Amino acid sequence: MKKFVSKLLSLVLVCSLAGCNASSKAISGTFEGVSDPDIGMHGEVKVQLTLDNNKITAVDITEQNETPDIAAPALKKIPEEIVAQNSIAVDTVSGATRTSNAILDAATKALKKAGVKLEDYQTKAEKQEKDKDTVEKEADVVVIGGGGAGLAAAVSAKQAGASVIVLEKMPALGGSTIIAGGQYNAFDPIRQKNMEMRQENLASLSKVLDVEPANELHKQLIDKVKSQLEEYKKAKGTYTFDSAELHALQTFEGGDRVGDLNMIYQLTKGAQESVGWLESLGAKVEDKVGMVTGALWPRTHQFVKPLFTGPIDAYKEYLNGKDGVEIMMNAKANELESKDHRITGVVAEDDDHIYHINAKNGVVIATGGFARNAELVKKYDTHWGNLDGLGSTNAMGATGDGIIMAEKVGADLVGMDWIQLLPVGNPETGGMSGNISINAANQLFINLNGDRFVAEDARRDTLTKALLEQPEKKMFILHDAHEYTSGDVKNDFNESIDELVKKGLVVKGDTIEELAKNMGVDADHLKKAIDTYNEAVEGKIEDPQGKKVMDQKFDKAPFYAGIRVPTIHHTMGGIKISPNAEVLDKDGKVIEGLFAAGEVTGGIHGSNRLGGNALPDTVVFGRIAGQSAANHK
Ligand code: ADP
Repeated sequence: MKKFVSKLLSLVLVCSLAGCNASSKAISGTFEGVSDPDIGMHGEVKVQLTLDNNKITAVDITEQNETPDIAAPALKKIPEEIVAQNSIAVDTVSGATRTSNAILDAATKALKKAGVKLEDYQTKAEKQEKDKDTVEKEADVVVIGGGGAGLAAAVSAKQAGASVIVLEKMPALGGSTIIAGGQYNAFDPIRQKNMEMRQENLASLSKVLDVEPANELHKQLIDKVKSQLEEYKKAKGTYTFDSAELHALQTFEGGDRVGDLNMIYQLTKGAQESVGWLESLGAKVEDKVGMVTGALWPRTHQFVKPLFTGPIDAYKEYLNGKDGVEIMMNAKANELESKDHRITGVVAEDDDHIYHINAKNGVVIATGGFARNAELVKKYDTHWGNLDGLGSTNAMGATGDGIIMAEKVGADLVGMDWIQLLPVGNPETGGMSGNISINAANQLFINLNGDRFVAEDARRDTLTKALLEQPEKKMFILHDAHEYTSGDVKNDFNESIDELVKKGLVVKGDTIEELAKNMGVDADHLKKAIDTYNEAVEGKIEDPQGKKVMDQKFDKAPFYAGIRVPTIHHTMGGIKISPNAEVLDKDGKVIEGLFAAGEVTGGIHGSNRLGGNALPDTVVFGRIAGQSAANHK
């Protein structure tokens, strides 16, 4: 092990622990602190803080109701840091800022209760340069990124007999995958048999079957679906018709034919087969299949555990403690190493080490998208215009590192300009929490002037484009008591409307005037917008915004308005791969020893990713990449 001088900044306290906290009388004991309920994600966080002669020796979290997995790194790291630094001026954990702040608030209250001088514990650690140790490691397969695709790759590489090292730069596994809604599209010959075929769905098939084929494979798939449909009709089927080929055609058309149909077909065939693979690992799938927004067909599976925690937990359980598997947390890959035109390993680092990790068979890049890298978003976006300052629904680690590393070794990038936005981001975080939209037919979008500006039932990209042109790029989503029949009614993120009003993310009014006042918009404008909308619902006039799907008048108090901004949701472009998940160079040739999977890749979803197609992408190509890398000698 040799010493390596690096530019690392390590944490060292400004003043010595004992000297810093020299208040007049030394205090020992355990003190309780409870955070303000508005600071955390879900109410109060309670801690027990122990002092020994004024020095903090323990911080135990005794009660909390934060979102599991997202909060986990903060729940572990913040108490450790408070003790290590004898200070409450510690950095929050990115991706879990609110939980971090709630713990710090509770610890502050405990210190106040102890009666010590708070200033003694508010000294920020100072940084100084330190050497890092260089460590050599080796595995058959090195996976960069511990999100959905990376963990699927690690499991499949291990199943193929390879030793595996997973590098994850964040303190938690799961990436953006674990905070996604958990919707997984796949043809399912068993579950779809129990679902009635809806006539409007059958009628929509002509959109993908009665079209001019783009190429030979497109023609073959159309012919195949036509003959499957004939057989289904001959057998007088009443269950939901589907096939991997139909899923492929809808994905291709849904992405405006920009995606590579060969890759899409690989995805849809694998999506079906991978449901069984996930079950074999212990992830339980709901029996009922539905249709998530933007999925185009009822083939969306949901897992029994919330969000996508079922499959992620199953991967973790499979990998934990297995011989020849190492998962390195807080370890960031910086560079790919190569020799004689073959990728041979990865250079990575954590707080104390530089790692040179030799990959005997191959490296899998599974670092996710680049929604959290403003520079890359600016560089590649050509369709939206100015996306400066936008947040994202993605995890903080989605900074496009894998794209940058792959490009340096000659990888081709494809579809980088296709960036998917949603119009319903939380103005603070860009995330989806606090979104009160539950039924497009009964909601109004109102800008800061108090005016409607778009048909609320339009496509997501149309809605977002319109929102980007509004003052401050902000709007309110309005619902009334037709949807929120009581204060306990929850949105899609398990937040009750009362809870959201209390947090200040939503404002409420018993009259339109009161609502306008709480929104800070012109009451006359808002009244006019709502009156006109209600006339259109009654059929007295055509809706001036062209909304077609309208259900009830906006007239039942209390009225609610939640503030929302555009947010970056998915980056469709990325590293070009073959159907075997091999990374391709600009001449279409395989870069030996390099594989990629998941959101870091491009060319599959085209201009628009269907709702429910991202998760099968991580599973299918994660599996393929792991296996291809393991078998690459
Ligand atoms: P996908 O859906 O494609 O699997 P995710 O966002 O779920 O993408 O996972 C990507 C993971 O890769 C995240 O956990 C992220 O923190 C991690 N990651 C990103 N860049 C690096 C890097 N340079 N080194 C190690 N891990 C990384």
